[in-house]
Amino acid sequence: MFDINNIRSQFPILNQQVNGKPLVYLDNAATSQKPLSVIKTWEKYYETINANVHRGIHTLSQLATEEMELARQKIQKFINAKHDYEIIFTKGTTESINLVAYALTNQIKKDDEIIISYLEHHSNIVPWQMLCERTGAKLRVIPMDENGILQTDVLDFWLGEKTKMVAVNQVSNALGIVNPIEEIIAKTRKLSNAYVLIDGAQSAPHFKIDVQKMDCDFFVFSGHKMYAPMGTGILYGKESVLENLHPFHGGGEMIDKCSFDGTTYAGLPFKFEAGTPNVGGNIALGAAVDFIEKIGHDNLQIHENELLNYAQKKLLEIEGLYIYGEKANRTGVVSFNLNGVGIASDTGMILDKMGIAVRTGHHCTQPIMDFFNIAGTVRASFAVYNTLEEIDILAEGVKKAQRMLV
Ligand code: PMP
Repeated sequence: MFDINNIRSQFPILNQQVNGKPLVYLDNAATSQKPLSVIKTWEKYYETINANVHRGIHTLSQLATEEMELARQKIQKFINAKHDYEIIFTKGTTESINLVAYALTNQIKKDDEIIISYLEHHSNIVPWQMLCERTGAKLRVIPMDENGILQTDVLDFWLGEKTKMVAVNQVSNALGIVNPIEEIIAKTRKLSNAYVLIDGAQSAPHFKIDVQKMDCDFFVFSGHKMYAPMGTGILYGKESVLENLHPFHGGGEMIDKCSFDGTTYAGLPFKFEAGTPNVGGNIALGAAVDFIEKIGHDNLQIHENELLNYAQKKLLEIEGLYIYGEKANRTGVVSFNLNGVGIASDTGMILDKMGIAVRTGHHCTQPIMDFFNIAGTVRASFAVYNTLEEIDILAEGVKKAQRMLV
């Protein structure tokens, strides 16, 4: 049974006033709040276990190692990876993508091609631009139409021997649009030997992920957007692909044998986990997975779809409000502007005075903003603890902002 009151009671942060009004937290695409189970897991780690992992013979070190490896297994199951050593702990999506882009350097040569899409977050653009700078490879960008739909036909012409990587997100953080990754992956497999990286930062918190069915080479996401602490993230990579990659960071934990004559690297996953990891955070990420699975993906999706549909309906009732991107196939995010209001941040500031937290600006997707010829949008984004009443409050707040600004 999906009991929203029970869920909300697990998020103490929601039960507060901001600027004298009950907090309405609608900035979940930036970061979600954390349930007590995650906070307590993190606390318990520091209260009772804290020790460095993998190196210690002593009891606490062994306990810390066991707990972190258990979390790795939970994440493996969460995305249906074949092996737990295909799960690499990182700081987040950004680090995961940089890791792959850097590690691929020696496999890319001049005039090779990397394909991304118009709908990417800067963290799935810049690491590839930097890879192109290092290697002389070229970046190609799948275009989109005025509804934010990717024009994937270009792949029929672009994919080929030169294509080395196709990196796209499953859900756009700026518009919430769900991209046709099945089609993109199928075309890539058919027409090239390129790797496929899926940025799941905005899909992992909402969808059931199955990396084997998806048949991607890499799947990356951030813990903090799915109820886990900040500074946690995952790089999933297929075993055969990870085996072929050069390490990213060098240091402790990632070596097999280190001498001044040279170093050999540890096996997976440690080859990509140099240095002391965020042990407490990683264990708490395991607790976040438990939290989502206890609710169940079906319940999660029914509730979040209801929120999204209701939000779109209520907001579109406001004359002069424009929602960016097509409305049928999206998740978790509504991005909009009010006609006649110069900058989105004015709307955001007025909403904040009413206790409503939304994000305004370019959402680290400046090319999308340039496409629509705007500086930014107001973005409301949802999580499992949001309610229809909160959407009513948002809609009323936007109307009030409109009265004040237009
Ligand atoms: N990709 C997408 C689609 C995102 O939404 C975000 C976060 N807004 C990122 C990448 C980067 O995630 P992080 O800042 O957690 O590394």
